Amino acid sequence: PQIIEHLRVEHELSNVSFSTWIKPLKVYDVINNTVFIMVNMNSSVEYIEKKYLLPLKVCIAEITGEEYEVSFISEDDDRLNEIQNMAVEASQKKRTKSVAERAGLNPKYTFDTFVVGGNNSFAHAVSVAVAESPGQVYNPLFLYGGVGLGKTHLMHSIAHFILDQNPKKKILYVTSETFTNELIESLKNGKSSGNESSMTKFREKYRNIDVLLIDDIQFIIGKESTQEEFFHTFNHLHTSGKQIIISSDRPPRDIETLEARLRSRFEMGMLADISSPDYETRMAILQKKIELDKLEKYNIPLDVIQYIATNIKTNIRELEGSLNKLIALYRLNNNEGTIDISLAAEALKDIISSDNNREVTPELILDIVADHFNISIADLKSKKRNAEIANPRQVAMYLMRTMSTKELSLKAIGAIFGGKDHSTIKYGIEKVESEMETDETLANTVNIIKKKINPA
Ligand code: ADP
Ligand code: MG
Repeated sequence: PQIIEHLRVEHELSNVSFSTWIKPLKVYDVINNTVFIMVNMNSSVEYIEKKYLLPLKVCIAEITGEEYEVSFISEDDDRLNEIQNMAVEASQKKRTKSVAERAGLNPKYTFDTFVVGGNNSFAHAVSVAVAESPGQVYNPLFLYGGVGLGKTHLMHSIAHFILDQNPKKKILYVTSETFTNELIESLKNGKSSGNESSMTKFREKYRNIDVLLIDDIQFIIGKESTQEEFFHTFNHLHTSGKQIIISSDRPPRDIETLEARLRSRFEMGMLADISSPDYETRMAILQKKIELDKLEKYNIPLDVIQYIATNIKTNIRELEGSLNKLIALYRLNNNEGTIDISLAAEALKDIISSDNNREVTPELILDIVADHFNISIADLKSKKRNAEIANPRQVAMYLMRTMSTKELSLKAIGAIFGGKDHSTIKYGIEKVESEMETDETLANTVNIIKKKINPA
């Protein structure tokens, strides 16, 4: 709230108008997506609205990274009661946020939305069995397969299913990156404060659960302490009959950094692989996506869908991405042109195929960084300054400088990020470099992204 006023200063306001109009403003409440701003009795709501609504919106978006509506109210506003009721309602809703959401699950990743085909029918069947009787059939369940083939989708489906059956079940879904980073933090805090309570908390979190899902175990670092802790977590859960589900891009025997004792633990459960979908399955996935995302209204011709299914073979995320891109291109033309094969060809042109010897382009880096942090490429390129976006942006700058196949100047990187100054880029890159030296979790994260860009 205060920040809004501060930032106003940066937005070229004269001192007089700032202190007359902006300084007296108080954030009254933030409800859902609206910021209610209380205007001082003696000022004119109309005037402020006319003059400052837009700049304020922009400011809020810059700071928070989210779009908010802004609504001005005065102290004698008739709507005050109404707003208070809205606030109560909104906070109640927040509290009853579904268990699934709290467990960090994507609501779209359920068994209902998962298309079963020859490539994944076995993995799907054992996942359903585990979801129906966690801890009792296949434990651990180890799902493996290439990037974008549905491992995360299946894991979330299992978790949703268990929670639907019994919302009281304690389910923890994490990536191996989160596990590692939280462990590093707990060890560090334990050391610096001289007590063990942060490690105790860590262990409580990971052991006091019914189902543990660890995604992308291939990124668990080779460090002894991490694998040691994971080994104990695993044993603790396993011997008390708790379900463990693990995913990886390859089977346990091929994960070189994995300790032998963990490898053999993983192999004693059920291994199920997911391979690339065949043509029929790719068609079915595209049709399903059209249905789920309500894209029927675009009347995409069958031959266009077939064209996409024919050309994108190995990655379902790219299959979906092509469809999104196609619609985006069409809408860019004010919904006027036609959706045909040539538009589809244009859409596919930008889709990065997962080839091991692929060129490392800025687009590839943007794509992987955005995906990793679960933000959009538009956000990465935007001017938003909130840490959730600014930090990934700096990581992307660093990776472009250090990993691009064609060497990129600071200026060239600046151009990619909407014409940023070369000194801004330099600052960003150096910040990442120096922080990686002291911040072990950042170093871990950057290493994981590097592996995603350049899978060995
Ligand atoms: P992975 O974790 O294996 O890299 P994801 O689970 O993230 O892959 O899947 C990538 C995208 O493809 C997701 O949007 C997911 O919903 C979709 N997807 C994957 N497999 C299927 C499937 N069998 N049916 C429907 N959508 C799928
Ligand atoms: Mg995944």
